[in-house]
Amino acid sequence: MSETQEASKHDVVIIGSGPAGYTAAIYLGRAGYRPLIIAGALTPGGQLVNTSEVENFPGFPEGILGPELMDRMREQAEKFGAVIEYDDVTSVDFSGDDKILHTDSGTDYQAKAVIVATGSQHRKLGVPGEEEFAGRGVSYCATCDGFFFRNKPIVVVGGGDSAMEEADFLSRFGSSVTLVHRRGEFRASKIMVERAQENPKIRFELNATVSAIHGDDQSGATEVELTDVTTGETRVIPANGVFVAIGQIPQTEFLGGAVKTAADGTIEVDGASSRTSVPGVFAAGDNADAVYQQAITAAGMGCRAALDAQAYLIGE
Ligand code: NAP
Repeated sequence: MSETQEASKHDVVIIGSGPAGYTAAIYLGRAGYRPLIIAGALTPGGQLVNTSEVENFPGFPEGILGPELMDRMREQAEKFGAVIEYDDVTSVDFSGDDKILHTDSGTDYQAKAVIVATGSQHRKLGVPGEEEFAGRGVSYCATCDGFFFRNKPIVVVGGGDSAMEEADFLSRFGSSVTLVHRRGEFRASKIMVERAQENPKIRFELNATVSAIHGDDQSGATEVELTDVTTGETRVIPANGVFVAIGQIPQTEFLGGAVKTAADGTIEVDGASSRTSVPGVFAAGDNADAVYQQAITAAGMGCRAALDAQAYLIGE
């Protein structure tokens, strides 16, 4: 913090604007606090903004579009007095009673309690060509980029729900969709696997990895190299779109070790609570949950964090 610039002071600041952050804000707003949400400069709303139909969020039997669900959560949080700043927290100082948050815009925030609800980001394949063709064929978001691959061959990598969902969605655009998965069994739920298997446009390449992505300056990605995990044999298939859906990494690096994290980066919390290793700092959502990672579980954790933060603020 510069000596001339006073930090903006708050009772409670929520970092992140996914289901966990907005739910925490709704509860804290209704409890009479005016929570500040630092929502992220580029991707407010979190990952659901990049999802299509959400069919399993209770209360929406017909399903709801991810961006609409997040808009409604934001609206509900604002209705109860939440204030939103579209900025990124770049580092923190949790050493004192007042917690300090430094942001990308240069504004510093001071809070008695902080809820970390920053979610997670896409895991990368780490193969040659992935970085080179990022945004020119390689994508981590089918709903954002699927449209660009109309009548073109598409490859989806992964065996979880995201890969199934993306393959299904991309089959509307691509001339073909090939789902490449490193094992013979899927991690995805039965209903999602069956939906993909029943889709005539989706082909499966199992026990195979994408070991390289090839292309050129003019066309972007044009093909991927597949490696058979049992024989080690390689071959090349055409792919103008390569959608990587191999899971998430918790967004906790900006904390710089200020709270205790597990080896995979998820924030450790005390039992079923949201209390981190630092009194007054709470965690909710995918950044504190390597297992469930659902919109509804994140929302539930956001509620817990709000209640824990309230108890802390009133000195219970
Ligand atoms: P996930 O369940 O962790 O699945 C990741 C997949 O990627 C796994 O099949 C994994 O293979 C594979 N993988 C990981 N690292 C890899 C690597 N380096 N190279 C190749 N493959 C790799 O992640 P997710 O599919 O993103 O789902 C995350 C959570 O969100 C889950 O809880 C899921 O249920 C939920 N979700 C739900 C919906 C829905 O219900 N509509 C939609 C999307 C996501 P292995 O199986 O071999 O480990």
